[in-house]
Amino acid sequence: MATRIRASCEDCGDVELRVDDVTVRVCIDDDAGSYVFRCPGCDRSVVKDAEPRVVELLVASGVDVTAWSMPAELLEPRPGPAFTHDDLLDFHELLEGDDWQQAFLDAAPGGSASDVA
Ligand SMILES: [Zn+2]
Repeated sequence: MATRIRASCEDCGDVELRVDDVTVRVCIDDDAGSYVFRCPGCDRSVVKDAEPRVVELLVASGVDVTAWSMPAELLEPRPGPAFTHDDLLDFHELLEGDDWQQAFLDAAPGGSASDVA
């Protein structure tokens, strides 16, 4: 008899899956585990965090494992203040005007609209 895996979908409740319906994902940066499946009831992707014990159980059952790593952008230095809601509003107002392109070019290092052919 094929192994059946019981999982839960937020909308459909408990669902039964085959080993091929589930994928385990392990982050190689922090060893965090999760599993993902497409719900047979609503056809949506469901992602659940998984403790190491659950990861081991799923892998031992034959579920495929995918390793992934955090995006390199998370390690980039972020000088300067954080972008705020006021910054977003200023940016929105800037885009509503006709001279946003000029302001953008003037603010760019060594940039000016007169440099653009
Ligand atoms: Zn569902």
